[in-house]
Amino acid sequence: MYPSRFRYEAPRSLGEAISLLTEGGDEAKVMAGGQSLVPLMKLRFASPELIVDINNIGGLDYHRADADGTLRIGALCRHADLERSDLLRDTQPTMAAAAPLIADPLVRNRGTLVGSLCHADPQGDWASVVTALGGSVIAQGPNGRRSIPVAGFVTGPFENTLEPDEIAVEAVIPPAQGTRSGGYLKLERRVGDFATVGVAVALETSGGTVKRAGIALTGVGGSTIAATAAADALAGQALTTESIEQAAELAAQAARPRTDHRGSAEYKRHMVRTFVVRLLSRDLEPAERAA
Ligand SMILES: Cc1cc2nc3c(=O)[nH]c(=O)nc-3n(C[C@H](O)[C@H](O)[C@H](O)COP(=O)(O)OP(=O)(O)OC[C@H]3O[C@@H](n4cnc5c(N)ncnc54)[C@H](O)[C@@H]3O)c2cc1C
Repeated sequence: MYPSRFRYEAPRSLGEAISLLTEGGDEAKVMAGGQSLVPLMKLRFASPELIVDINNIGGLDYHRADADGTLRIGALCRHADLERSDLLRDTQPTMAAAAPLIADPLVRNRGTLVGSLCHADPQGDWASVVTALGGSVIAQGPNGRRSIPVAGFVTGPFENTLEPDEIAVEAVIPPAQGTRSGGYLKLERRVGDFATVGVAVALETSGGTVKRAGIALTGVGGSTIAATAAADALAGQALTTESIEQAAELAAQAARPRTDHRGSAEYKRHMVRTFVVRLLSRDLEPAERAA
């Protein structure tokens, strides 16, 4: 199917883009990679009257670390940029694990991390990863910029807290309180598919103690799930087989899976538990692992 008729604008500055969004109100949509928006328009699940394509705006395609380790990902940084990033490979294990698991190379070449957060698909991988890392989104509108924690940015399936005249200009990952570890595991029916179940784990450890933990779940609820109780159970103590089992159980309890053609709710919950154990066990001391 073809999309319904729309006006297309490709401004060259953020100011111009925000003016266009203000003019278009609820009928305007930002387009970044177009990898979720265009399919929705072709199916006519979305019929915006105005598309504001931000691809001609310079200086949004970066990802870089500040001196204190804060990671900033611009609105036009593609999944493929993150997949090939030495910075992520060296400093962000959870993000580095997730990047190659998103869709296929064609989608990764165009789609953006920030666009994925804005799209708020319960099966979107980046929202779980950024939630586990305690990240936030920087929104810019006519009245300036504001920072929104991702856990509060995604409010439901395909819903976020942006105003119609705001653009998400950047995602921000705070610096680690210690050594960062963790990863992302995704159960998919075939390579390139959306997650049947995805689990993001982010740990920050110092002197053998977990300083901060984040666990978030993909595809097992109406939106991305922050498994806060599971993460909190790990903080402030050394990682042990028992604490891992407890966190995995709490994460499984936080999941809200539904039985569908991909598997039963019980199977998906079991996979959450399994993935949490698998990811956290990588950080166990060898003696503890052997026990
Ligand atoms: C075949 C296929 C397979 C896929 N598989 C996966 C997968 O396995 N895992 C996964 O996570 N994703 C998957 N995706 C989705 C893909 O990751 C998209 O790139 C992503 O969801 C949206 O990013 P985008 O830049 O393409 O956003 P767009 O499609 O341009 O926009 C998506 C939505 O976000 C809004 N938006 C985008 N950027 C901004 C911004 N800067 N400010 C305000 N609003 C904005 C748009 O208005 C729109 O509502 C798949 C897509 C396809 C087509």
